[in-house]
Amino acid sequence: MDGDGLTVVGASLAGLRAVEAARKAGYPGRVTLIGAEEHLPYDRPPLSKQFLGAAEPADPVFRDERALRDELGVELRLGQAATAIDTRARAIGLDGSEVPYEALVIATGASARTVPGFERLEGACTLRTLDDARQVRRALDAGARTVVIGAGFIGSEVASSARARGLPVTLVEAAPVPLARSVGSEMGKLLAELHVQAGTDLRLGVGVAGLDGDGAVRGVILTDGTKVAADLVVVGIGASPGTGWLQDSGIDLDTRDGGVLCDSTLATSVPGVYAAGDVCHWVSELFGRRLRLEHWTSAAEQGALAARNALAPETAKAYDTVPYFWSDWYDSRIQFVGEPAADEITVVDHQWEAGKLLALYRTGDRLTGALTVNRPALVMKFRRMIADRTSWSRAVEFGREKTKP
Ligand SMILES: Cc1cc2nc3c(=O)[nH]c(=O)nc-3n(C[C@H](O)[C@H](O)[C@H](O)COP(=O)(O)OP(=O)(O)OC[C@H]3O[C@@H](n4cnc5c(N)ncnc54)[C@H](O)[C@@H]3O)c2cc1C
Repeated sequence: MDGDGLTVVGASLAGLRAVEAARKAGYPGRVTLIGAEEHLPYDRPPLSKQFLGAAEPADPVFRDERALRDELGVELRLGQAATAIDTRARAIGLDGSEVPYEALVIATGASARTVPGFERLEGACTLRTLDDARQVRRALDAGARTVVIGAGFIGSEVASSARARGLPVTLVEAAPVPLARSVGSEMGKLLAELHVQAGTDLRLGVGVAGLDGDGAVRGVILTDGTKVAADLVVVGIGASPGTGWLQDSGIDLDTRDGGVLCDSTLATSVPGVYAAGDVCHWVSELFGRRLRLEHWTSAAEQGALAARNALAPETAKAYDTVPYFWSDWYDSRIQFVGEPAADEITVVDHQWEAGKLLALYRTGDRLTGALTVNRPALVMKFRRMIADRTSWSRAVEFGREKTKP
């Protein structure tokens, strides 16, 4: 590769892993990391967990600036959003300047969706960035009555953090069951019990008609006409891939959510351009279809692989690890491996008094997913079994053996 080197757009988890992997692979050329946020790359999972607790939060930054610039030799362009790309000239447009590339990794992640009226009201937040988390934390420090819109993983964690401080929380979810997309409706219904047990006021099957307030938020008006008073409203209704800057670039984007379409090696439709992390739809050979995940582990793994593949396309490898995510609710660690769409889900072990759950997911005659609560060692065994295409009967037998009282 010539002097234009590797450029990575998006300075978060996938982007950081990309530049680290390039150096680890011995790449000696120029490496540039472009990020829209002013912050150094930082870790997002703590933002809805420890960062919102009563204790002084730890700094979520992964590496300090000296380590990035001097040890890794990365040219940092922080606080500068990529606004355009010229794939023929191989150059990224920033406001007022251009960064050339020979190989490019797109790692622009996703940004939080909001509800109408949200922008005008103080105390109405999303939770995607460090700045968002600081705003939520300040409100919790002040003892806010909180309404969380959306009982997905981030919304559920915000509710957990507020309840851990003993604050009142209402969690509103438009679907009849939370988390149907992530773990299936049956298991979503089971996990919802954790909210109820912890004293969160869970409102299922009701939408949000609007936010009430004048300058500052005063509450949330639900579609059934009820108004729930609040000093803090956190909107957690999902995120959209950060690809506004790629419109009309010639890089194929998904027609539904605008994510970047990649093959199994994370290559986009344009030579030299790869994508990784929350922004990326890739072809999973294991599951035989395209997936886009918003999971820490896949963003980290894909960032590293995208850089290696971009620097050595002739030996590019497929990304084919089993999806994995975790989420912390109250005192429970929820973990899921594999794919939630299944022919059958079997609850192998369910002891809420002991805070434990194991459910297995079958597609055809194979194990394709596993959900656990407070069983961290076990879930990783099932991750390996899914990768090994283990039969359903063997997986259930193993699960029963391991959870025997
Ligand atoms: C609060 C929170 C809690 C989470 N908890 C968990 C968890 O418990 N378990 C789990 O598995 N996952 C969790 N996740 C998900 C995980 O953090 C994400 O999957 C991961 O951060 C994705 O990394 P990424 O680098 O692909 O994208 P992102 O982290 O979204 O980063 C993308 C970066 O690109 C930048 N960017 C966007 N557009 C441009 C542009 N045009 N030019 C330059 N830069 C741009 C953005 O500013 C951002 O900094 C959580 C996420 C959040 C927000």
